Amino acid sequence: MSPENRAARRKLWIATGLCFAFFCVELVAGIWSGSLAILSDSFHLLSDIAGFGISLTALYLSSQPATDRHSFGFHRAEIIGAVVSTFLIWVLTAGLLYEAVNRLRDPQPIDGKIMFITAAIGVGGHGHDDEGATAATPLITNPAPKILNINVHSAAIHVIGDLLSSIGVLISAGIIWYDPTKTMVDPICTFIFSIFVVLTTVRLMSNSFSVLMEGTPAHIDPAAVLQDLRAVPGVTDVHDLHIWSMTVGQVALVAHAVTPTVGESFSADVYNEVLLKCREIVCVKYAIHHSTIQIDVGPDDHCNPRMCRR
Ligand SMILES: [Zn+2]
Ligand SMILES: [Zn+2]
Ligand SMILES: [Zn+2]
Repeated sequence: MSPENRAARRKLWIATGLCFAFFCVELVAGIWSGSLAILSDSFHLLSDIAGFGISLTALYLSSQPATDRHSFGFHRAEIIGAVVSTFLIWVLTAGLLYEAVNRLRDPQPIDGKIMFITAAIGVGGHGHDDEGATAATPLITNPAPKILNINVHSAAIHVIGDLLSSIGVLISAGIIWYDPTKTMVDPICTFIFSIFVVLTTVRLMSNSFSVLMEGTPAHIDPAAVLQDLRAVPGVTDVHDLHIWSMTVGQVALVAHAVTPTVGESFSADVYNEVLLKCREIVCVKYAIHHSTIQIDVGPDDHCNPRMCRR
């Protein structure tokens, strides 16, 4: 394991510990004070812990070598973890929303003082994100700088969002402490949290599904790759082009490049030249380092009836 990986892991463990401590405090305080907003924030912390857990697992698994049977390695465990934990977070959020609607209809008494103290600790204690979020947003372990930036960006949004929501709860707690009849600000906080939770997880979910569905990563235009490969001298056609991610940031490519038949102008030199040029385009221009390119000699070569009787 590289030193950066080890440092990231240490940070993640610290962040996980801090988050878990705050989660326990907020869970107890939320139930005790009757504040749904505090309870929502505690579940938000739980989702952060899940995110850290995924990142820790991913750091561990990505350091594991591929095996004969799992020749791609274990990177997609990260994707599965992201999908499962995001789904659980959405279920929790739906439950909180349901409860918030109930509370608007039938307000429950809230202990504003306990809520205020807990929220104040929460605002002060948001070091968990400074420490962890940049290292801990799921899918950070990929090497592609473009995607890394996206995740650092969303981690920054996360930190700001966390702080703003804590301040929101603090203000609401102050209002309820001052005037205990104004309990509706509490479920309103939960509504705002829920929107924030969905906004911050929707991209993670869609990125994860894109990987699972073997989608071409957003930063690569498959039509442009096709055009560039077809423009290679000696290539008459390109088909069976597939570009996909083994995990976020690890792109693979397969393609068939068709060259003229032996009778016309084919030779081993042409074969090698075509292959070299195609690989160069894929590797240098598109930074795809895991490519498999097959040369079909003549348009009928790739499924030759003599070789392959259908
Ligand atoms: Zn957070
Ligand atoms: Zn390369
Ligand atoms: Zn073919």
